[in-house]
Amino acid sequence: MAETDKDGQDIVLEARDVTRTFMISAGFLRGKRPLHAVNGVNLKVPRGEVLGLVGESGCGKSTMAKMLLGLLPPSSGELFVDNVPTSRMERLEMARKVQPIFQDPYSSLNPRKTIGDIIALPVRVQGNADETALRRQVEEIMELVGLPRRLYRNYPNQLSGGQRQRVAVARALINKPEVVICDEPTSALDVSVQSQILNLLQDLRAELNLTYIVISHNLAVVEHMATRVAVMYLGRLVEVAETDRLFENPQHPYTKALLDSVLTPDPNLGVPDSSLGVTYPNPVDPPSGCTFHPRCADCMDHCSQSAPRTIATETGYVECHLYDDNQGRGRAAS
Ligand code: SF4
Repeated sequence: MAETDKDGQDIVLEARDVTRTFMISAGFLRGKRPLHAVNGVNLKVPRGEVLGLVGESGCGKSTMAKMLLGLLPPSSGELFVDNVPTSRMERLEMARKVQPIFQDPYSSLNPRKTIGDIIALPVRVQGNADETALRRQVEEIMELVGLPRRLYRNYPNQLSGGQRQRVAVARALINKPEVVICDEPTSALDVSVQSQILNLLQDLRAELNLTYIVISHNLAVVEHMATRVAVMYLGRLVEVAETDRLFENPQHPYTKALLDSVLTPDPNLGVPDSSLGVTYPNPVDPPSGCTFHPRCADCMDHCSQSAPRTIATETGYVECHLYDDNQGRGRAAS
């Protein structure tokens, strides 16, 4: 049964202070050191939302996705799906409620299975395999995602890239999940079919009241799909805001630099002016204080000494001393 939080929202997914630590070899005779791939993430995702999760490679997006899919337990903190801690959920129940759509529809589909078998697999795994009803169910979902029924007995290599991604979408949705983790859902596709898949995902979300987590380094995809965006840096969510607000008026210097780094389609505008010049820090040995400080154009003296706290903004929050009345310049988050 759906429960609402104190703001009356129906929260389908929640992360409470979630951390995932890996022990990494520090070199010959130096033992192991902790790498906090995800570090103290707090997040509530209301039902029906499309949350974009953005950040550079290595920021913790993939680790977060694996935890959301139940493939990796948090080292500390707790994840909840429909208010149930995932640590108390059976693997099959978790798989029914949270499903992935991966970026490469070719490698994520078994080449030896027919399209019908691939789409039916999640139902069979759950043990609900009345074959006549299942065939009908598969054909219905194929129709819903725009796949002709005649492809039922075909194999993945007989389909186009766009059709294969539609198979992946059908497989993800056949058990009517609560949440779909879309991990770079179009990055392996031709530009010509990317918008078709994005529009399909949008239509299905509205029709089936799905909740999406869209993980992407492509800000255009996130701007197109997401209702809210979470920006991740070195395992922390440094800014969360509604999509329009984030793209029009980014608050965190890292978000600003990410947006500045997007290539423009106009060749006359040249290479974008990004302030992300310094390379991404080694996550095993993160910078002190605000971990973004070596790359930050607005860095202040105390930024390297103390980590910023979380400051509420109009549609979310930001972690940056610029908005901290006690330590920064007291510039209010607008
Ligand atoms: Fe830059 Fe300081 Fe804000 Fe970090 S806390 S993002 S270093 S201004």
